[in-house]
Amino acid sequence: MKIASVIVDIPTQALDTPYSYAVPDEMLVGDGGLPAEVGCAVLVSLGGRKAVGYIVSLDEVEPSPDEGTDLWGTPRSAADLKQVEAVLTKSSFDEEGAACALWLADRYAAPLSECVRLFTPPRAVPRIVRGRDGRYRVEEPAIGAVDDRWVVRGEAFDSFEPRKNAAKQRAVLAAVAAGDVRVSELAAEYGNVASTLKALESKDVVRIEHRRRLRGMDGCAPACRTAPPPLTFDQLAAVNAIEAARAAGEGRVVLVDGVTGSGKTEVYLQAIERTLAEGRRAIVLVPEISLTPQTVARFRGRFGDAVAVMHSRMSDGERYDQWDYIKSGAAQVVVGARSALFTPAVNVGLVVIDEEHEGSYKQDSSPRYHAREVAEWMMARGGGALVLGSATPSIESLYQANKNPLWAQVGLLQRANGRPMPAIEVVNMAAEFASGSRAMFSGRLTRALGEELSLGRKAVLLLNQRGFAKFLLCRDCGFVPECPHCSTSLTYHEQGSKLVCHHCGYSEAAPPVCPECGSPYLKKFGAGTQRVELELRSLLDSLPGVGPQVPIIRMDADTTQAKGAHQALLEEFAAADAAVLLGTQMIAKGLDFDDVTLVGVINADTQLHLPDYRAGERTFQLIEQVAGRAGRAELDGRVMVQTYEADDVAIRAAATYNRGMFLRAELPKRKLLGYPPYVRMANVLIWGADEHEVATEAELIHGQLAEIVRNEVGERWSVLPAVPCVLGKLRNTYRYHIVVKAPLEDDLSAPLVRLFRTRHPNPKVSAAVDIDPMDL
Ligand code: ADP
Ligand code: ZN
Ligand code: ZN
Repeated sequence: MKIASVIVDIPTQALDTPYSYAVPDEMLVGDGGLPAEVGCAVLVSLGGRKAVGYIVSLDEVEPSPDEGTDLWGTPRSAADLKQVEAVLTKSSFDEEGAACALWLADRYAAPLSECVRLFTPPRAVPRIVRGRDGRYRVEEPAIGAVDDRWVVRGEAFDSFEPRKNAAKQRAVLAAVAAGDVRVSELAAEYGNVASTLKALESKDVVRIEHRRRLRGMDGCAPACRTAPPPLTFDQLAAVNAIEAARAAGEGRVVLVDGVTGSGKTEVYLQAIERTLAEGRRAIVLVPEISLTPQTVARFRGRFGDAVAVMHSRMSDGERYDQWDYIKSGAAQVVVGARSALFTPAVNVGLVVIDEEHEGSYKQDSSPRYHAREVAEWMMARGGGALVLGSATPSIESLYQANKNPLWAQVGLLQRANGRPMPAIEVVNMAAEFASGSRAMFSGRLTRALGEELSLGRKAVLLLNQRGFAKFLLCRDCGFVPECPHCSTSLTYHEQGSKLVCHHCGYSEAAPPVCPECGSPYLKKFGAGTQRVELELRSLLDSLPGVGPQVPIIRMDADTTQAKGAHQALLEEFAAADAAVLLGTQMIAKGLDFDDVTLVGVINADTQLHLPDYRAGERTFQLIEQVAGRAGRAELDGRVMVQTYEADDVAIRAAATYNRGMFLRAELPKRKLLGYPPYVRMANVLIWGADEHEVATEAELIHGQLAEIVRNEVGERWSVLPAVPCVLGKLRNTYRYHIVVKAPLEDDLSAPLVRLFRTRHPNPKVSAAVDIDPMDL
């Protein structure tokens, strides 16, 4: 008989394990329904309840009564096993997907059900609902109406001569001659056309096809094929290195280290072309924010309809259609955000991760995986290669490229158009301040704006917003309004004069006087994008040759909330003559405008004081990335970086495009303090509504963890004490954490998984493990 190993999708505190269920014979062949296969959602009972589960393996087992228990403690005896009660969906993943889900759970100490859910199509999961009568029923998911249509296509209609009185035939043929036409349109125009179409089809004059419009390609220009340009010497070397990595078939990694505009994308395109030529598929990951129609169009321009797209801003219906298209095998190339790794593309021989240094490749909710690591695992298993591209590779990747024999690094040293990288000027704001200037824009940046804009050119201004929101402060008593639910100050919003919590969304009217002491002297500190926009407006209006006609396009979390808003703002900027694009970090990525000649960073240093060992690296990357936005075409670009920390090595190194200088300062610090890339870290998060319970549970976990580590690995690891998180209270939840550090070569996950699979959790407190955390 067959036994299914099933991951049951129930909310659970402990890390779950698969359970075994017997599969009735008729279910194997799909008698009266869908066949039971790996990847199907099934209905099972667990602990007296009905639940949805996913089959991760199907094994033949001898039906002997005396088998004892399996690995998971489930009786092997057929008589004792519960049965799979129904198959609810077609298979959404294969054995490889199942293996990946199990690996993810072990690697990231995450619940299995959450890992397996990565592989299911959007909203395709049925829900089990218990009715008033106590009976269970399966609620089908709603994925939106699938847009099916019947289309008439002309075949040999040129030579066909309809009979004289066959008016409908003539009409249909005339319509078809102009292009494919929908049956429903013909029927609307000419009444019942069924017999006419049938007659024409039987003579092979037309063909009637069933077609489905793929949702999710809206706004993508119809594929206008572009021929591959001849590669530069560096590009050819990169493509060859990728070919060699692929031929090795052991999951090699190629780090393509190339400045913005150096032709990395062209390298990916040609490497993909060769992959497809061998009958294998490719996945391309780009940061969510740069998944614009232009990016997609570039891939469709080369590979046409073989491109599928997957990202989180698409509707469920759109994602479902793309998912289904991939599953059908028609898509050869999947372009998407990190979740595109889990689409049902089979036989993937190449994964490309563009802008690999981006933090968004790490998922910040469970399972907290990093796309780079998952792709590396997949390619090692599937015998493909992984390509990482960036102008500012992460320190972890640079380290691997240097130490790991399976990694290689290739450089694209010049921009493809031969233009130099723009010169970067550092403006010392501390000196400006000392000389009496209190303005947000230095004299030099103001002059540069005047010069470029009056020539009809464009500028991009970046407001570095990490930890730099605007807040109210009472000058008399020092009171700062805080969120009642989170341990953070409220951000002042000019619009509507509101105080808003950026963590939980709480908002209140800004008080006219201090609620503590009644003083009217409430000062607004820091500067949000809205405030900067106001100041910039009056600055531009006062500049000769610039004036009010030059638009400011503001791009931040507020202005890009609506679907398509991000794209619309970029189009507005592209269409304008002289204009300023003012925005947060989101403007530093992937934008490619020919006529941007000035890039300004309003405040480069605000990250340096955060309690974050990556602060320097992030600042370095941000400046290099944003500088790449200037002078991409014939016009020379210039970059101005305003900072209060002109001496900081991250800023000095970025300003001279000197990565070596930055690394020489940064790496010894990381080594000394025990940070990546020299160690692996895990962050154990403990949170709950009751602070005392949370603190107690955190202590308990710390003790258990310390004991496991002491017994199993000894002194090589460190388990730091349980302490409140930097953001100690969030949405009325108290948060503690425990940092664990281990040598690179050790398996950091295994002891954590063991602990969380076996310990009895406090039901009032939640806990989760974050392996290789981005933030502490
Ligand atoms: P990156 O991805 O590194 O930013 P792109 O691949 O977008 O660089 O290339 C930058 C520009 O140079 C694009 O307009 C691209 O079409 C062009 N380009 C890239 N490679 C070549 C080449 N070999 N010959 C001519 N133009 C190229
Ligand atoms: Zn006060
Ligand atoms: Zn809040």
